[in-house]
Amino acid sequence: MTHRLFGTLCVIGPGLIGSSVLRRLRAQPGLVERLVVSDRDPAVLERVRCLDLGDIVTDDLVAAVGEADCVMLCVPVGAIAPVAEAIMPHMKPGAILTDVGSTRRSVVDALTPHLRNDISYIPAHPMAGTEHSGPDAGFATLFEDRWCLLTPEPGIQQDQIERVSAFWRAMGARIRVMDVDHHDTICAMVSHLPHLIAFTICGTADTLAEDMRSEVLDFAASGFRDFTRIAASDPTMWRDIFLNNSDALLSVLDRFSQDAAAMAQAIRDGDEHTIVETISRGRRIRRSLLENRQA
Ligand code: NAP
Repeated sequence: MTHRLFGTLCVIGPGLIGSSVLRRLRAQPGLVERLVVSDRDPAVLERVRCLDLGDIVTDDLVAAVGEADCVMLCVPVGAIAPVAEAIMPHMKPGAILTDVGSTRRSVVDALTPHLRNDISYIPAHPMAGTEHSGPDAGFATLFEDRWCLLTPEPGIQQDQIERVSAFWRAMGARIRVMDVDHHDTICAMVSHLPHLIAFTICGTADTLAEDMRSEVLDFAASGFRDFTRIAASDPTMWRDIFLNNSDALLSVLDRFSQDAAAMAQAIRDGDEHTIVETISRGRRIRRSLLENRQA
């Protein structure tokens, strides 16, 4: 028998992440009794109705959250605190507020002043995604075997943290609880810097002379193509991530620039040992990812 996690769950922002959660819940009936879905865009809500992803589908944020035992914000990072502020007076006493935002510190700082004492705010960042967005992009297995990073502030009740953990385990994810700033540093390294590099490489290719640019596209399979997949991600989402995790991102970018300069120097000097050692480290990391089922 499926163990009920929440009576009513409200998902705000049924895009890639939100609609993947909803699909998973539809595939496992019983985890949540009633699904309420809200978005500001009527076209998105129409798609959610067509896909049958919610029991109640509404653009009325206030009505959406009133009965919810858990409200999950799946909107871009820059919209999390404003949406939380708007719904806070209307949430049910004792409810859980969670979000899936990719950055933490600036969101927590912006949201905390609006938080009610009787609401538990437990952010949870699923480390899973694709370059696609919107309600049609989601799929029920998106979180399978992926990490979900929980960053509750000190003082949040353990049983509430356990409820959110159980929810994400039911989504197929593995759970790690960590401090907010540690989260931002880790994500700057494993996600935000790679995206920055991918966007930049595509920009560099695009500014090459016309004849060279067309050849880049012709021969992209040799490595460039993998960067273009990442670089196809949503501009609003990534603008918000870069601006909201600027300190941690600039710090790892500095480190990367130094390492790239060291590699350039090794090539200039014909320093075979450094070149081989750097490439070998990359291969070792790839092997570890495969062993951890994260590749
Ligand atoms: P998405 O597919 O673009 O969906 C975002 C949804 O939020 C859309 O339905 C959007 O509606 C809605 N929205 C935007 N601004 C809003 C506002 N001010 N008020 C109400 N709704 C609003 O994005 P996503 O990829 O699912 O990302 C959602 C969150 O998950 C982000 O915080 C992101 O950082 C995080 N995340 C993403 C990934 C990933 O790889 N994609 C991975 C982990 C976590 P409109 O169409 O009207 O804009």
